Amino acid sequence: MSLALKVLGSSGGYPVRGLPCSGYLVTADQENILLDCGPGIATALLADGRHCGLDGVVISHLHPDHVLDLVPLAYALLAEWLVDGRTTPLPLCIPQGGLQFLQRFSDLFGHRSWQFPSDADEPGKRALAASVQERHDWLLTVFDVREYAIGDTLELGANQIETHAVDHNAPTAAMRIEKNGARIVYSADACFDPTLVGFAASADLFLVDAHMSGPLAGGAHMSPAEAGRLAALAKARELVLCHLAAPEDGPSARAAAAQHFSGAIHLAFETREYRL
Ligand SMILES: [Zn+2]
Repeated sequence: MSLALKVLGSSGGYPVRGLPCSGYLVTADQENILLDCGPGIATALLADGRHCGLDGVVISHLHPDHVLDLVPLAYALLAEWLVDGRTTPLPLCIPQGGLQFLQRFSDLFGHRSWQFPSDADEPGKRALAASVQERHDWLLTVFDVREYAIGDTLELGANQIETHAVDHNAPTAAMRIEKNGARIVYSADACFDPTLVGFAASADLFLVDAHMSGPLAGGAHMSPAEAGRLAALAKARELVLCHLAAPEDGPSARAAAAQHFSGAIHLAFETREYRL
């Protein structure tokens, strides 16, 4: 298996009916990379135990439904350091300004003032204590925070993720990952944007924001019909409608997208794993 994607959550805005917000787990060459980390994603990641099993995280933009579960994820990593002696920070790629955002967020909880025993024998505790003594925030210590400019190509282990600026009401990156000829593209949150046609060209799997699936109007997202039109223009093979306002919008969203796109159309709410 060269490339796979598991939908951990895709609810737009808030976790509707117990379904988490945005979080997509890409597995490429045995490395697990999480795209976005909205509310409920830590629950999904840690459903089988204490280890998150991640090799990297990439955040598309700094809206709550895409980042809030970085805090419980950090607590899980803290446990890995304290209990299991982990001392390697988890790479976290975040748009420019993200480090200050995380610092301010963490300061609200007083994380910087936490103490860890400096005479501990275990390597993880020693590493945390040394970091905190240098006035580093433990929550940021467990992550290797890498700010990126949207448009950069991100290097995570053996994988590369290309980013592309999209039209949303915050600086937002679409993402593309390829492996052995298979291509996954994630629009992130975006209005209809012709520049995405080239970025997503010939995607095997195109995950597209279709948030305007219900009575909502306007805003900074696509409708399912626009998502279908975009996938058709990009000549994508399969389309996954993401970030729907509610699961009950699924049938009408699929029908609207199918007016424009003749390939397979999936609902992120329903279909959970794709292997390419
Ligand atoms: Zn957003």
